[in-house]
Amino acid sequence: MSSEKASALVLRLVDFSETSSVVTLFTREFGKVQALAKGGRRPKGPFESALDLLALCRILFLRKSSDALDLLTEAKLERRFRPPAGSLAALYAGYYVAELLAKLTENNDPHPELFDEADRALLALRAGADPGPILFRFELMALRLLGHLPSLDDCAECGAAVPTAPRVPFGLTAGGLLCPNCRVGKKQIVSLSSDVVLAMRLLADPNSNAWQSLPWQRAVQGELRGLLNRFLTHLHGQLWEMHRYLSLEDARGRKPASKVLTQQD
Ligand SMILES: [Zn+2]
Repeated sequence: MSSEKASALVLRLVDFSETSSVVTLFTREFGKVQALAKGGRRPKGPFESALDLLALCRILFLRKSSDALDLLTEAKLERRFRPPAGSLAALYAGYYVAELLAKLTENNDPHPELFDEADRALLALRAGADPGPILFRFELMALRLLGHLPSLDDCAECGAAVPTAPRVPFGLTAGGLLCPNCRVGKKQIVSLSSDVVLAMRLLADPNSNAWQSLPWQRAVQGELRGLLNRFLTHLHGQLWEMHRYLSLEDARGRKPASKVLTQQD
């Protein structure tokens, strides 16, 4: 057993006993960590109020060598996640960042750049930025850093350049855009507008902030939200808890803009 220090984001808190909780943390140094916080449920306990969903903390914990839970020994609050008053969209977006980190990463698999991206996204949400594009950027960066970035320039299947067109087929199973040849006979295809393809290319570029200058019309956001919901569901193999809270269309009772085409389309 060794004692370790880390910067951590609180992803999940589950009651363990009258006084203790099991906390899921995403640390910059060690990746995702699940630890027992003894006394974590007591208001004047050893962690004071640091164990708050999405709070950024400095922690000390004892790493267990086996599959046993690590033991949290100290947590000092650095920053709470407090979105602007009344902004449910920013709150849901924060919860979704936590869900992405919890579900897409493995225990003890460090991704310091992903930690930094999450920290940046939460800061922007806290500062009142439009949650839609902030999440899109975080999702594309997370997919890139975890090796799941869809092919956005060349055909995901054969590698040929995908010709520019008003609408381009995106294969959920193939993992990206498809050329006209490879599109034939494929299922699980989403038809994307050229605006969404361009937006995704900018969002996926780690060395550019050009995505921030896009107009981000509602139609583009709705279409991209629909695609990412489907792509991530396909990738993860199950539905995401927060997706239904993110759709712009749901709030107005309409369906997402992108539609899944069947083989007959
Ligand atoms: Zn192809």
